[in-house]
Amino acid sequence: MSKKLLFVFAHPDDESFAAGGTMAKAHNQGHEVFLICVTSGCKGKSGEFQFSSREQLALHREEELRKACSILGVTDLILYRYPDGTLKDQDPDILAERISQTIIALKPDVILSFPLDGVTGHPDHIAVSHASKKAVILSEAYYPPDQLPKFYYISVPHYYDHCKDVGPLSTCIITGKVDISEFRSLKGQALQSYKSQIYSVNRAYPGVMQNDFSVIGPYEYYTLIRANGNQVDLTAEKFSNKLMIIDLFDKSSF
Ligand SMILES: [Zn+2]
Repeated sequence: MSKKLLFVFAHPDDESFAAGGTMAKAHNQGHEVFLICVTSGCKGKSGEFQFSSREQLALHREEELRKACSILGVTDLILYRYPDGTLKDQDPDILAERISQTIIALKPDVILSFPLDGVTGHPDHIAVSHASKKAVILSEAYYPPDQLPKFYYISVPHYYDHCKDVGPLSTCIITGKVDISEFRSLKGQALQSYKSQIYSVNRAYPGVMQNDFSVIGPYEYYTLIRANGNQVDLTAEKFSNKLMIIDLFDKSSF
């Protein structure tokens, strides 16, 4: 049966880096894929492009995001257009409330967002992680009790594999993975949409801008945080063994 997935990220490009393969696979399998992008990325680098204002850069990055979304099969892109780099200064309750309104309107079966460390430690990512979790909890009251959504953190344990520098170690236990091996080229093409972010793409995925997708791994990883209206006990023994991985698209895990 067709499911609805809602991804919540901070910047244009986060979705392609973190979950592009999963999005493309979900679309290919007939699921609906929704994406909230909280900022328009107006503080990011601009690559080869020169913009006279932050607003122009934001518009350009939104265009790159739309292109990536069309490649990945995103059903609907929801732009909140908060200023880039400001999310830690926003009222977390208001951001959570806004995300929860989108959740209540869409009633997704699965909601996915950044882990608490934001993968890279970016303050916007961390703010979106906190707000998304809070939004899911707020929204659960609006679901039928037997159809409560699952909430996952995305995890990118291999993010720094190809970087010259080293980032924060992933602190998130992984409870599930999606085999994206057949969707690596779509993830690569989505990343190629971000010409203005060529520095970031080259850093994490060297070769992709030159059509070499071999650095894109065959899996994307997730941590189940909430299910059936409850916080998942990640200290439980069954999650302490990283080999106990499940596929997000396995019937039992959806
Ligand atoms: Zn980001």
